[in-house]
Order: sequence, then structure tokens, then C-alpha cells
Amino acid sequence: MKSVHPEVFLVSRPQIDYEALAAYLTEVGGESWLERLDRGHLDDAQNLAEFAGKICYRAWEPGLNPNIVRVRNDHRKYLENILSQAHGSVLEHVTFGFVLHNVSRVVTHELVRHRPGVAISQESLRFVRLADIPFWFPEWAQQDAELMKRATALLGQMEEFQLWMADHFGLDVEGMNFEQKKHKTSFMRRFAPDGVATGLLWSANIRTLRHTIEARTDPGAEEEIRLLFGMIAKIMQAEAPALFGDYTVQDGAWVPRWRKV
Ligand SMILES: Cc1cc2nc3c(=O)[nH]c(=O)nc-3n(C[C@H](O)[C@H](O)[C@H](O)COP(=O)(O)OP(=O)(O)OC[C@H]3O[C@@H](n4cnc5c(N)ncnc54)[C@H](O)[C@@H]3O)c2cc1C
Repeated sequence: MKSVHPEVFLVSRPQIDYEALAAYLTEVGGESWLERLDRGHLDDAQNLAEFAGKICYRAWEPGLNPNIVRVRNDHRKYLENILSQAHGSVLEHVTFGFVLHNVSRVVTHELVRHRPGVAISQESLRFVRLADIPFWFPEWAQQDAELMKRATALLGQMEEFQLWMADHFGLDVEGMNFEQKKHKTSFMRRFAPDGVATGLLWSANIRTLRHTIEARTDPGAEEEIRLLFGMIAKIMQAEAPALFGDYTVQDGAWVPRWRKV
């Protein structure tokens, strides 16, 4: 048994092509909006959200749309208005990619219930053979000596059975064909516990992130997924403070001011 801890790596974030944006804005007379933007390497997510909102009403500056006599120039206030109006579809353009590392199949099973706005590529235990059983124990469990003794003995037995099966099926014998390996590896994973740690790339847009952070840090949610989404929430608050600054955190529960955008 290998003792592990769930980790989150933010591996992708949106990037704007400002030249292309400028070319489009010149076409529609909206260049002044672009001049007002900050363009640091962490600004693209929020800028893209604002762009998506402003394109709806041609709200780059007053007068471009005769129905609009004034526009919000303050970036943060503009995005706050998007949240307060629940104009959430504009947030769907802004996607972040996270590697969720050493998370259990308990977590991944719950995570895949969130359907819109996500992309998932999960480690395949049909192909990836378990040589050991990576496992996370919460701190309260680690402090229970008898529990740990019995749990590690059980996991050790499961690990040994994995190795026995690999040998029994001759998976490492030269010439063993790949289809057979896959077939048997898939059978073998049935004897791994739900808590076995695995990994996936999980990409989600801001609308989905806001919803899942709230749902999965709720006190009623499962402890590992709460831990994970607490980490994701902190990352997102640093990445896009204007889109994640409305949360209050109470005992690990992230409660947004603007719900269900
Ligand atoms: C604390 C907690 C306990 C849970 N317990 C259980 C349990 O015991 N058993 C169980 O089976 N599940 C359980 N779940 C999972 C839960 O029922 C949802 O399936 C899961 O949280 C996905 O969230 P969602 O329904 O908001 O859908 P998401 O896929 O996250 O979708 C986001 C939003 O999009 C809209 N939407 C998405 N798909 C549709 C659709 N097909 N039709 C209409 N609107 C749609 C809805 O407004 C939805 O809220 C639990 C979840 C939590 C957080």
C-alpha cells in the first residue's frame, strides 16, 4: 500500500489572441474597449468573459448600439453585474484544465455526475496495471491505530493478490498479446477498492466551476471531494478574483453571493 494525498495541478488556462481581437474590434468600432484592458498573463480569463458579455449588446462604447447610451467601464463591476444578472452563458467560454492526482474512484464516480461544461480524460485501469494500491487516509483515520492496522493489512492482501494474478495470467511473459493483457488487467481491477487512488484531467468552464465548487464543498458532500474542491476554489479565486470573489467560506463550505449563474 502506498500512502498518498489528493493533489490538484492547474495545467491549462484560457489565452486570448489580442491581435485578432483588435482586428475584430476595429471592424465594429470597439477599439477603445481593448485599450482599457489589463493584459497580464492572468487577465485573459476575465477579459474573455467580459468580451463574451460585451459582444451581446455591442457594448464596447456608447453609441455603437443606439439603444445603449452608457456602458460599464469598470472591469470588476462589469463582471459582478454578469454574476448578479445570472448571465452565466458568457462564462462558458472560459475553460480551465486541472489534473486531479491521487484521487479515489469514490471521487471520480461523483465528479462525473457533473455533465455540462466539462471534459474528462481518466486514467484507464483497463490498460494501467495496479502494481501497488495507492490510498489516501484522512487524518482522523490515521489517528486510529487499530483501524490503520486492519486497513493496511487488508490493502496489503489486495496488493499481493494483484501481483499473484499478474503472475498467474502470465502478463509479463514474452509474447503475451496486448488484447489478452487488457482483458485480464480489466478483470484484475475488480479486486481493487473504491478508494484506490487514480488520476484524471478534468477541464471545466467557469459556469460549471462555480456550480461544482458550491455543490462539492457543501457540508453534506463527501470528505475527499470537499477537500479537492476547496483546493480548486482557492486556485480559481487567485486566477479570476472578479469571478470568484463573491464566495464566503464557512467551515470549508464555499457559499457564493450569486447562486446558480
Ligand atoms: C451532497 C451531495 C449528495 C449527493 N447524493 C447523491 C445520492 O445519494 N445519489 C445520487 O444518485 N446522487 C447524489 N448526488 C449527485 C447529485 O444528485 C447530482 O447528480 C450531481 O451533484 C450533479 O449535479 P447537477 O444535478 O446539478 O448536474 P450538473 O451535471 O452539474 O449540471 C449543472 C446544472 O445544469 C442543469 N442540468 C444539467 N443537466 C440537465 C438535464 N439533463 N436536464 C435539466 N437540467 C440539467 C441543472 O440546472 C444542473 O444543476 C449528490 C450530490 C451532492 C453534492
